[in-house]
Amino acid sequence: MSAQKPGVLVFEAPRRGKPPRHLADLTLAERKQVLTDVGLPGFRAAQLSKHYFDRLEDDPQGWTDIPLTQREQLRQAMLPTLMTPVRELTADQGTTRKTLWKLHDGALVESVLMRYPDRTTMCVSSQAGCGMNCPFCATGQAGLTRNMSTAEIVEQVVAGARTLARGEVPGGPGRVSNVVFMGMGEPLANYRAVISAVHRLIEPAPEGLGISQRHITVSTVGLVPAIERLTAENLNVTLAVSLHAPDDELRDELVPVNTRWNVGEVLGAAWDYAGQTGRRVSIEYALIKDINDQAWRADLLGKRLKGKLVHVNLIPLNPTPGSKWTASRPEDEAAFVRTLQAHGVPVTVRDTRGREIDGACGQLAAHED
Ligand code: SAH
Repeated sequence: MSAQKPGVLVFEAPRRGKPPRHLADLTLAERKQVLTDVGLPGFRAAQLSKHYFDRLEDDPQGWTDIPLTQREQLRQAMLPTLMTPVRELTADQGTTRKTLWKLHDGALVESVLMRYPDRTTMCVSSQAGCGMNCPFCATGQAGLTRNMSTAEIVEQVVAGARTLARGEVPGGPGRVSNVVFMGMGEPLANYRAVISAVHRLIEPAPEGLGISQRHITVSTVGLVPAIERLTAENLNVTLAVSLHAPDDELRDELVPVNTRWNVGEVLGAAWDYAGQTGRRVSIEYALIKDINDQAWRADLLGKRLKGKLVHVNLIPLNPTPGSKWTASRPEDEAAFVRTLQAHGVPVTVRDTRGREIDGACGQLAAHED
């Protein structure tokens, strides 16, 4: 992957060899079809799906309700190895875990598990790299390698679920309660795979993992036509918009896709989503010292968001290689919060996890050394 020229946007992912077909790419009906096509009983699809999504059992030896002679055949037809862990880094006494994965073609991606007292969130990647070129984001600086398949996206969550179920994360056995599409990539630039992945995540076993829609967040730089498509899906996931500036002049620089769809258009699409779903839209705003944290920008942001179904997440900027920017001074951050509150806009400052393992927002860059 090479450094991107400022402002260059890549929407079309390079074509590479397709990842092998996997159970999680398919609906339950399609899984049945695949099995009958290779001469296996269709009802094995539900059994196998339960092992995958419900019991999180990936070892054919554990599939005791399936005849020994069929287990290997089923594994080959439905559960090829999609990704192998290359490295695992932990922080916060083991409750934050970043995994570097190698995909079948050597592409690298990362996912992050974050366990809190009341929930466990998986932050997943949707593309290897990213074409959106935001200058403060390490992923954006590396460029786009390729789109991920539905199953490659889902497998990150299933892998996290297995780790938790097996008690490998401090705090005892647990479940993945939340998923955020905030890892590498622009989810809405890989629209179809991401929407299928959302279906696999929310539908109950044997169809999928059975995670609550309200606990799934799709984050976007603001691809307006794709937000409109999402609005029409009749899903109830949380939409997060990476705004980072309330004015077009600065946003053109920080989020280059703003030159296609500006602040007004992005917010318009976000309010339509909120109107359709009744769900509060998250506005992500990385606070960058002396760049986007001035009092007047806080005020302008407050004015633009006032009265809307919205919640602002302020993220103290995480350091990335080669970036000259740093996080805001504490007093400027506090003033920014107060200004938004004065406009009646709900706001929290994100408790960033995993900074010391380059696992925090904007730090995922996926290299092996
Ligand atoms: N492409 C999507 C998904 C990535 S989410 C999107 O941009 O929304 C990752 C979030 O972290 C985004 O809000 C992104 O803008 C933010 N981010 C990127 N670099 C960051 C950094 N260095 N510090 C803090 N947040 C950052």
